Amino acid sequence: MSHFVIARKYRPSNFGEVIGQDSATQTLSNAILNGKIAHAYLFSGPRGVGKTTTARIMAKAVNCEKYPSREPCNKCASCIEINAGSALDIIEIDAASNRGIDDIKNLRENVAFAPASSRYKVYVIDEAHQITADAFNALLKTLEEPPPYIIFILATTAPEKVPATILSRCQHFKFRLVRDEEIKMNLKKISSAEKVKITNEALDLICDEAAGSPRDAQSVLEQAISASQKEEIGARQIEFILGLVEAKKIDEILNAVSKKDIKSAFKIIDEIYKGGYSLQQFTRKILMKLRKILASKIAGEKTGLFEDASSDRIYWMLECLCSAEREMKWSEFPKIILELCVYKISSDFISIEEAIAAAPASYADEDEVSRQEEKEKPVEEEKNHNGKAPSKILELLENKCGAVGQLFRLAQKISPESGSLYCEFGASNELQAKRIIANSEIIEKVLHENGYALTLDVAIVMPKGGGQTPAEKITEAKQLEIEEPIITKLHAIVGGELEGPADE
Ligand SMILES: [Zn+2]
Repeated sequence: MSHFVIARKYRPSNFGEVIGQDSATQTLSNAILNGKIAHAYLFSGPRGVGKTTTARIMAKAVNCEKYPSREPCNKCASCIEINAGSALDIIEIDAASNRGIDDIKNLRENVAFAPASSRYKVYVIDEAHQITADAFNALLKTLEEPPPYIIFILATTAPEKVPATILSRCQHFKFRLVRDEEIKMNLKKISSAEKVKITNEALDLICDEAAGSPRDAQSVLEQAISASQKEEIGARQIEFILGLVEAKKIDEILNAVSKKDIKSAFKIIDEIYKGGYSLQQFTRKILMKLRKILASKIAGEKTGLFEDASSDRIYWMLECLCSAEREMKWSEFPKIILELCVYKISSDFISIEEAIAAAPASYADEDEVSRQEEKEKPVEEEKNHNGKAPSKILELLENKCGAVGQLFRLAQKISPESGSLYCEFGASNELQAKRIIANSEIIEKVLHENGYALTLDVAIVMPKGGGQTPAEKITEAKQLEIEEPIITKLHAIVGGELEGPADE
């Protein structure tokens, strides 16, 4: 089967068959029935949603023997001629290649001649926004005093680029992206007419890819049908045609993440990478799947994967993946970025509630005491802490730094001192302290923006006899951060001992 056969064979032949543009097609059809025809129309909307198709139907309807009627008959000589593309009075112009003043001058001269055999001479100008300013001015003259037998239909994906002087002379119809269900119904109809079986999964994949354009969807279906040799079309064939990673790989990697099986997750990433697929697209597919899982979780439905995970955890994973996807765009090492991200989301997630519950009881008491003191001697405290009360800072961080801000509650000690905010964490809160270190840049920014000229100084106090002193450890981490930010980031994510230059 040759290409575009399906698109031609199943092209809507009347207004009722146009998919998903009811508002535009019904209004046009009514207007034609009532003989209320304007001289200029603007059809705007995304590509592949039926603008030129509707323009052709319109050209048929106004020239049909049955006019005025709601629909063209598709049987009379005029309809047949237009369907065959041989009607002399239906002139289709692609403004992308005929955008200059000379082209429009030709058009103006041409407009002066009455139609050869039709009632109306219809000009369909596709990609109308591409017409040059001079040419638009020339066109405007034609639109100002159009001969009674002329209809202009301007189709565009960018109505904002059409000059207001032109817009004001056109009846504007907005075409929208078509809903997946409507596209799916159309694809089902075509496949059954072609006597080809197609699975629901395959139809879903086509709809995902077509993103609201029935034309794109039909083109994928056509390729699948010509490759299928009358066998049932499954998801794999569509994935193959579209160069997509198998959907089951998405499930597999998420399954590995949910089991914290980093080895398998990395193996899948490697397979995808070596298979020549786009890792960024793969990441986007993981994101889409996770988004669905989050939506099901919120709705209280079964999710299949991550049944035991909280919505907070899924949300956090989505955040991590989103930023990885953004970074991958600019990086020469998208694989490393995805691996880092997968490593991170496979690690332990601690929700705010868990973090607060895990806070040492003594801390709460101290906090109470400090609050009391604050009430009693606010002036003194301000003096002690460089003019800034720690509780105010805590409040600020909690309000402005989201989940990370809450982690400061776990600190054994927080004191704003000359130029820095010293935060001390116990060994049991090492992971949380590292999350703060990993986000120190943003936290410092928040502090600065709110009038606290403080840098962050985070210390983790290890149990006695545990090797390095906290100060050494943090100094080393800071030193490494200057030289190897990625190592510090990794360290903040995975924990464990840092092996810096000092150890060599
Ligand atoms: Zn007809």
